[in-house]
Amino acid sequence: VIHENTRIEVALDRSWPSFVSLVRDLIRARSVSGAEAGAQELVAERLRRAGARVDAFDVDPRELAKLPGWGPTETDYSGRPNVVAVIAGAGRGRSLILNAHIDSVVPGPIELWDRDPWSAAIEGDRIYGRGAWDDKVGVAVIVWLAEALHDAGIQLAGDLIIQSVIDEEISGNGTLACMARGYRADAAVVVDGRGPGTAVTAHCGQLWFRVTAHGRTAAAVESWRGQNAIEMLLAIVAELRQLESVIGRDRTAPFDRVEHPVQLNIGIIQGGATPTTVPALATMDCHLTFPGPLTLDDAKGMVREALARVADRERWTADVATEVEFLSLQVSPFVAPPSEALLAALDRSQREILGVPLERRAIAGFGDLRHFQIGGPTPCCIYGPTAGGGPHAANEWVDLAPVPGAARVLAAFVLDWCGTA
Ligand SMILES: [Zn+2]
Repeated sequence: VIHENTRIEVALDRSWPSFVSLVRDLIRARSVSGAEAGAQELVAERLRRAGARVDAFDVDPRELAKLPGWGPTETDYSGRPNVVAVIAGAGRGRSLILNAHIDSVVPGPIELWDRDPWSAAIEGDRIYGRGAWDDKVGVAVIVWLAEALHDAGIQLAGDLIIQSVIDEEISGNGTLACMARGYRADAAVVVDGRGPGTAVTAHCGQLWFRVTAHGRTAAAVESWRGQNAIEMLLAIVAELRQLESVIGRDRTAPFDRVEHPVQLNIGIIQGGATPTTVPALATMDCHLTFPGPLTLDDAKGMVREALARVADRERWTADVATEVEFLSLQVSPFVAPPSEALLAALDRSQREILGVPLERRAIAGFGDLRHFQIGGPTPCCIYGPTAGGGPHAANEWVDLAPVPGAARVLAAFVLDWCGTA
């Protein structure tokens, strides 16, 4: 194995410039959720050239909507495929999924950016751009590993399955579709987030919801005749803030180690047409994170109850009401099933390459880990390839300096886990 470790490290070093250019090309492909096709073509092409069997397939809502974990959405998924590459093992080895997401969130207001979010500008060790850290670098790392295995002429014993998935930021339906297509393995590692050094084995629940307020319109100069829908939402926000302070009081391990397990973000608010009219309709879209032992249903119930309390207190009548709708991102708090063998192997590789033990973490954020549990408990974790800044905000960047170390750790781990023929 020492011999093979050296060969793959040489192959990684040699192809570093091609890795960096892939990260930049993926940023320039502008693959926000819904527009992943161009970036996926680049990924598929690279994996094909690395000798992998590549399967590009669209998410089929008709087939998936009945599965647990489906993120409910009316989205059209045609022409934005997942890309999965199988590097077939010789046999008698453990199989492994390496997963990363190709989609990114929208850049938001361009004027908040110091640079064009799609330029992929390099300054020192940094690459700037929407998706640079989250998660173009992760996708590029797993492609780079596949290429290095090929270049080094290494034949694994177990299958290695590389997954570049769509729609992770919106629903997780991309990874769900990979599972439904039958891609299973003895373990799964999502390459995303902060690292190297830590394995995320648990994450908080996530819930998107839309509150719609139906008020009563009136002229501004007779505003007392109306019921302002925007102000109804303000009352709801105040109540949800109360909920935020009580919701995380009784949390169980490992969520007791998460610094901010409960976070409510009012992400979009819309309503009104002109200052001279009392708005009769307003909506707001929210993202709520919450820890275990709460379940998704608990969280939904708490949101519904909060709305009911406000309606009661404000004495809103039937024609003046609020309603809640739960949107595509609906994730229960997640704790990985027993994953000792996986974590021990990753720990060994990391100690050997970086000289530091693997730290285990629970986070307020999330990844697609839940879907790997379809069909049976599967050891899994999220392993971050590097650090960066501005994910889901302006001026996102990624630090390239730690990436070669992280890639070496993952390469050594793949050889260890899958074995070689
Ligand atoms: Zn991500």
